[in-house]
Amino acid sequence: MPWTRISSKLKQVAKATLNPAIVRKVSQFGTSSRQFHSRPITISQPDMKIRLVPALEDNYMYLLVDEETRQCAAVDPVEPQKILDAIKEENCTLTTILTTHHHWDHANGNDKLVKLVPSQKIVVYGGDDRIPALNTKVGHGDQFKVGNLNVKCLFTPCHTTGHICYYVTSTSGEQPAVFTGDTLFVGGCGKFFEGTPDMMYSALVTILSKLPGNTRVFCGHEYTVNNLKYALHVEPENTTTKEKFTWAKEQRANNLPTIPSSIEEELKTNPFMRVDNSAVQKHCRTSEPVSTMGFLREEKNNFRG
Ligand SMILES: [Zn+2]
Repeated sequence: MPWTRISSKLKQVAKATLNPAIVRKVSQFGTSSRQFHSRPITISQPDMKIRLVPALEDNYMYLLVDEETRQCAAVDPVEPQKILDAIKEENCTLTTILTTHHHWDHANGNDKLVKLVPSQKIVVYGGDDRIPALNTKVGHGDQFKVGNLNVKCLFTPCHTTGHICYYVTSTSGEQPAVFTGDTLFVGGCGKFFEGTPDMMYSALVTILSKLPGNTRVFCGHEYTVNNLKYALHVEPENTTTKEKFTWAKEQRANNLPTIPSSIEEELKTNPFMRVDNSAVQKHCRTSEPVSTMGFLREEKNNFRG
């Protein structure tokens, strides 16, 4: 979905939240809407529902619900109580925790969430032994189900050596979703704490770029405005990036998330996804994609805009 369509969709959400009935629903979500850095929003389609649950300063947790069976998965549930409130509102059954990587602001709620739902066995997926409560370690290409939804694991090491992205599809063929943790952000990517530019090239270009263009991207942090500011430093003439930057600032001014994006939008605007593009390479004074990736990361680390 082009970002302009998402934009109009989110404007509808913004309008809808002015409706008193829905405002009540938002404020009942958790103890107070003020405890969130953004308004919690829900993306619904006939086969699956995804609730964005803001956490900490700028993290996003997610609740993925299979509409057919009402089974659900929590993605990076660092604040378990907020996830439990969302589960209660959805009246669904938690079967699964999807952990993108071991960093505390993603994985530290696992133990508590498992203990708070003692009635059933929760399968805790992840690709790293450092993840708390991990009971099912996965690798690239592994597949499993959440209700009737298919989840495929994409091994994307670099930010950490055990980072996994989760690609979700349904048999009805509606828009897929991918949970990208701290590998792919809207307009940017995670720092290379445990990896090299060629590892991030493999994650972003070889793996994530090849997903269908309409795949919705749900990432781990609200970093979009700063990321797009840097993207415009790299490509000042990119009109799609300019427009998306304006839109993102407007969203944040209204306390709304800039998530989800789509693979198609990222390919048009995210410099780290565009290291094969000649304008991006020219900025980095190289014609080689992996060196371009390395240059961008270094420059972004020191970028103050
Ligand atoms: Zn991280």
